[in-house]
Parts: sequence; structure tokens; C-alpha cells
Amino acid sequence: MTLNALYAGTQSRWSDYEPELNRAFAEAGLDVQLSCDFAPEVVDYIIYSPSSSVKDFTPFTRLKAVLNLAAGVETITGNKTLKVPLARLVDEGLTQGMVEWVTGHTLRHHLGMDAQIINPAHDWVAVCPPLSRSRTVTVLGLGTLGLACAEALAALGFNVAGWSRSPKQHETIKCYSGDEGLKQALAHGQICVLLLPSTPDTANTLNAETLALMPKGSFVINPGRGPLIDDAALLSALDTGQIAHATLDVFRIEPLPAEDPYWAHPQVTVTPHIASETRAETSAGVVAENIRRCEAGEELLHLVDRTAGY
Ligand code: NAP
Repeated sequence: MTLNALYAGTQSRWSDYEPELNRAFAEAGLDVQLSCDFAPEVVDYIIYSPSSSVKDFTPFTRLKAVLNLAAGVETITGNKTLKVPLARLVDEGLTQGMVEWVTGHTLRHHLGMDAQIINPAHDWVAVCPPLSRSRTVTVLGLGTLGLACAEALAALGFNVAGWSRSPKQHETIKCYSGDEGLKQALAHGQICVLLLPSTPDTANTLNAETLALMPKGSFVINPGRGPLIDDAALLSALDTGQIAHATLDVFRIEPLPAEDPYWAHPQVTVTPHIASETRAETSAGVVAENIRRCEAGEELLHLVDRTAGY
């Protein structure tokens, strides 16, 4: 029997996704009709993105699963009308993109590149950057993306500390968990990368108290989600020099409003939520595999724990 998959992703990406999803369905041996316009009662699967106009799942009476095209699920996980399994996206293109973005911005701050890139007076100040082995980077969140970034930074020679909800052990990364662990992880890291999901528990993880635990002149890099940081506390820490610079990719309101103080702050770099994007060519196979699994009665990959919120 033909399955109906509703594409409820970003409409401007439909022309990218349609051929890639159809190719992936064929490769998985699935008979799937893909459309952005089905009557709700005939839909078996929803391929979803946070920008989707679908907010009420009640009319989707034969829905089997929602397959999210993003790693973050904060806009859908609490939806009470959703009664079927929800899978988030884990795909190698998304991970690779995040590793490249985080490594690039970490190296910018580690090497002090701005001193040469922004040098209108043509000053000749021959200060050599330190080696990575003398720098600790703290990665908050050791999931798919955080762990991949932590391992890439460790491979470059950085001392890497990581923090997660559950305790972990790793050969090259010093792992912390829990409230006390957060304090210890922050106390050592001169560069802090946030790759936590946005949940009620992670809101304002960086706040006045926790920012004060970091060594003076530290750097903050946030490709996670805007609510992870108390914005007023970060701006205040930037003004006092407690934080030397913040590179921010995600915000409570996106696009970041023109009047937001982050735009004007000389010690803030704003990037427009581009740290890593879901790419049709790498994510389509993950979506197809989850439909195959669901049809075969197997557990879906990357299921969201809706109680934990990620
Ligand atoms: P993930 O695999 O679910 O990992 C989440 C990590 O955060 C896990 O290590 C988890 O701990 C930890 N965590 C969750 N709640 C915590 C808490 N209360 N205290 C301490 N640690 C906690 O997620 P992911 O795939 O790595 O993605 C992380 C986030 O990146 C996404 O949620 C999304 O917001 C963001 N993202 C941004 C972009 C972008 O372009 N800017 C792109 C993709 C994703 P456990 O290991 O113990 O579960």
C-alpha cells in the first residue's frame, strides 16, 4: 500500500527536498507518495520543520510518526496534540557543519585573529598566539553535536571539558555533569561552547552567577539556542571584560531585531543562525530509514524523550 508523507518543512526548500526524499524512498524500497498538500486524514508521516504551519496534529488521524528536519525540537516537543513518536534529526552533514563552524570560531578567539584582521592603524604588534594545549575549551552539551565538536577540538590539541545531564567518561575529554559539575567545567574553560538543547532545565545556563565562574576574559560561543543565555547578564559581563567576546548564532527572537543591543556591541559577533543547517542530500536517507523502521515495527532512530524535552 502506498504511504503518504506530508512535507511540512520550509516551503522554500521543497525543490531541494522533493528529489532527495523521493530518491531516498526508492533506495529504501519504500512506496511513498510525497506532497506538501494532503488532506490531514490520509497522512501517514509528517516530515516537519520548526517553521511549519502545522501546529494542531488532531486532524491527522492515521499519523504514525513525525520526523523533524532539525536537531532542536523545542517548538514541537510540548505539543499536546501530538500523540505519535517524534524523531529529531541526526545526520552527518549537520554534524560536520557544526564541527567546522565551532572549530573555526574557537580558533578565531584562540589565535586572537581579530588583532590582525581589524588593524586600521597598521600596528606591528608581534604577539605570538599560544598553543592549543595551553587552552581549555568547555563544551556544554555532549550529545551528537557537542561531542563531535569536543572531539575535533581535542584532536587539535585543546584541553577539552564537557558537561552533560548524565555522567559520562571519555578518553580525551574531561566530563562533568550536574550542578556542581557545571561549576567545575566553567571554572577551567577560557572558551565556552554551548550545544545544549533548549528545555526548561537549560534556560539561562549562562547567567550572572555562572558567567562569573569563568576565567576573566573568557569567550562565549553559542550555536545552541538563544534561551541558554541570560542576555542581560552576558551584556553586563561583556561590559566589565569578564567575557572578552561572544559569538552568537542563535537568539530568543530570530531574526535578531535591529534594535537589539547585541548588534551594536563591539565585543559581540552575530551570525544569523547559520552554524549548521540540515541538508536535503544528507537528511533524506535518515527520514527514509525511519519510515522503513516504523513500517517494519522497529524502534525509530533518534526518538525524542518528550519528558526531558530533547
Ligand atoms: P543531543 O544529542 O540531544 O545532545 C544534547 C546534550 O545536552 C546531551 O549531552 C545532554 O545530556 C545535554 N543536556 C540536555 N539537558 C541538559 C541539562 N539539563 N544539563 C546538562 N546537560 C544537558 O543534541 P544535539 O544533536 O547535540 O544538538 C544540540 C542542540 O544544538 C540542538 O538542540 C539545537 O538546539 C542546536 N543546534 C543548532 C544549530 C544551529 O545551526 N545553530 C544546528 C543544529 C542544532 P545527556 O548526554 O546526558 O543526554
